[in-house]
Amino acid sequence: MTATRTFRIAAIPADGVGAEVVAAGRAVLDALAADSQGAFAFDWQEFPWGCGYYERTGKMMDDDGLEQLRDFDAIYFGAVGWPSVPDHISLWGLRLKICQNFDQWANIRPVHFLPGVTSPLRKADDTELDWVVVRENSEGEYAGLGGRNLSGRGQGGEIAVQSALFTEVGCERIMRFAFDLARTRTRRKVSSVTKSNAQQYGMVLWDDVFKRVALDYPDVETESVLVDAMSAKFVLRPEDLSVVVASNLNADILSDLGSALAGSLGLAASANLNPERRFPSMFEPVHGSAPDIAGQGLANPIGAVGSAALMLEHFGLPDQAARLHKAIETTTGAGILTRDVGGTATTEDVTQALIDALGV
Ligand code: ATP
Ligand code: MG
Repeated sequence: MTATRTFRIAAIPADGVGAEVVAAGRAVLDALAADSQGAFAFDWQEFPWGCGYYERTGKMMDDDGLEQLRDFDAIYFGAVGWPSVPDHISLWGLRLKICQNFDQWANIRPVHFLPGVTSPLRKADDTELDWVVVRENSEGEYAGLGGRNLSGRGQGGEIAVQSALFTEVGCERIMRFAFDLARTRTRRKVSSVTKSNAQQYGMVLWDDVFKRVALDYPDVETESVLVDAMSAKFVLRPEDLSVVVASNLNADILSDLGSALAGSLGLAASANLNPERRFPSMFEPVHGSAPDIAGQGLANPIGAVGSAALMLEHFGLPDQAARLHKAIETTTGAGILTRDVGGTATTEDVTQALIDALGV
């Protein structure tokens, strides 16, 4: 018998539906491990950080929280944010702090259409649609550069500047990541998204680097599309997409659009990767804490379970990831759906159906 490979995972359910969907993902992964005849196991440690923790301690995470996380093989994250805590405190105090300090510069967000789920596109061949948004996750519009001139108050109003940072190194690494990903897909194509007609510095650098990197990948088809046109393309010609690479803000918006087109934000998975593997990568559903449905068993766990599948790929277990994807398709195809995608099943019903569909 082969030795057991044990993967140490830090679970951070954080806020709202985060707790429900992380519990679902853990249950599904534990079922997979139990069925592996000792080939692999997951060793979980759960961290209580988030807005509730902030209300008790004044901190979103422990001061030495990053040290506590550093040696894990991965972080499995729920969702952060709650109406009682300002977003910039909750987001920067936990999720973005982890992303930035662990240099998780590549964020991948697959857009995957599922059987049994009606897309607002309502195309006959919806389930053939499948593309990936690759988001630059370390700089761009979310670099935190700028400031407010409070002294300007009362004399014509305050002034605020919000700058975006683009570096050649940052652009090049995310584009190479996108091209390498395209080579693993049936359709070898990368669409680069910019707004270089209106933003004449950063976005023009982005375009220049894209053209240069593309020369190293002659086997990959390319296109450069403005973000406004790309929004229309997501809706009108999604069959033309395979890998879409975009800056932090543009990709954030496009991936929410993609998940809505696939049927629900609750279905969308994501991975925040440190491709060099110097630090743990983080896997989380795209959705937020959903205060409107939190604690009611209504949350769709598929985004979190799909994120667990991305984590399995990161662990070098692609066959297990494929089993999870198949279980997701079997479950939605059988009409076992939460309310956001038109069904009546609870989070637990869907989780149990996923485990049953794994055949374990
Ligand atoms: P954030 O600012 O953290 O991204 P948000 O304001 O964009 O959050 P979400 O919390 O993601 O909002 O919720 C947006 C909508 O999507 C809400 O109506 C919510 O109920 C719904 N939603 C989010 N996640 C899920 C889920 N897992 N299952 C079902 N519905 C969901
Ligand atoms: Mg949001």
